[in-house]
Amino acid sequence: MRSFPFSAIVGQELLKKGLLANAVDPSIGGVLIRGEKGTGKTTAVRAFAAVLPSKESVSGCRFGCMKGSSLCGECRARESGGERLAYESRAVEVVDLPLNASEDRVVGSLDLSAALRDGEKRFEPGVLGKSNGNILYIDEVNLLDDHVVDVLLDVAVSGVNVVMREGVTYTHPSRFILVGTMNPEEGELRPQLLDRFGLCVEVTGERDLSLRRQIVERVLEFERDDPEFHRKWEREDKALRERLVAARGMLSSVELSVQVLDAVVEVVADLGVAGHRGDITIIKCAKALAAVKGIALPDEECLADAFRLSLPHRLKEDPFEETASGRRRLDAVLSRFGAQKPAKQY
Ligand SMILES: [Zn+2]
Repeated sequence: MRSFPFSAIVGQELLKKGLLANAVDPSIGGVLIRGEKGTGKTTAVRAFAAVLPSKESVSGCRFGCMKGSSLCGECRARESGGERLAYESRAVEVVDLPLNASEDRVVGSLDLSAALRDGEKRFEPGVLGKSNGNILYIDEVNLLDDHVVDVLLDVAVSGVNVVMREGVTYTHPSRFILVGTMNPEEGELRPQLLDRFGLCVEVTGERDLSLRRQIVERVLEFERDDPEFHRKWEREDKALRERLVAARGMLSSVELSVQVLDAVVEVVADLGVAGHRGDITIIKCAKALAAVKGIALPDEECLADAFRLSLPHRLKEDPFEETASGRRRLDAVLSRFGAQKPAKQY
């Protein structure tokens, strides 16, 4: 069955922007999506995977080692054995993490008897072994064992999975975009874990009636499976994919003035955010969003979105929630930046 096209999703603008920012700069650290069931979180994530540019992976590598990144031990052994590694194009997948997964299922397991007997490291990859270059999707991350979440977030930052068992060590690359969902009514994540998700989006059912009608119409159209519908949105998705490739290419040339940097630090400190991840994420996110727009300096809209995406999980209350008072607070913050008014849409 075809998946719902990313470009055809009505509403959920902030979620879409958060995902796209991570597509351009995965070091942002993923997205935590908070909201009730039935708000289309899973559909959005699967659609997002389908819109991502494919990756170049070493042919035959079970960890999907990617061009230009560090290689796994098996690829390195192939290279030092004189083989010239060939690459193949692979589509980005959504790798699901089952809720009841044990640590071994997540990080993989080492066959210690083989290691001791023949000195050979026999490794059975876990979920992290399949996640390299993909999206690691954890539905209801708040119900997962804290220790497992800890391990996952470590690897999300380092990009390397290290498995140590009784003196035997195995490592392989594992760079992924982490997307977690949670329903806050079923329990919160510890603040230390929350802080390690780059961005956070609150997803609610759309209240605006005309948007609600559009959502219903779009879903019904999709279900009719009309070829014209698919052709139209595939064109849009393809154009977006090309923009993402261009955005990745220009990211390193996106700049931020010293004044904006000072203002970000000041505003975040004023809000009482602990640690520095909030500031760093705002800056990375604003730059990535500017690259999606194809502009060399983040404008006011990029900064506003970066603030709204980077802070809600780092404060007790979201200061910039979509209410009149949240909007006023955000406007007051933005007036300190002297950034350009948006001249270009995403
Ligand atoms: Zn490899």
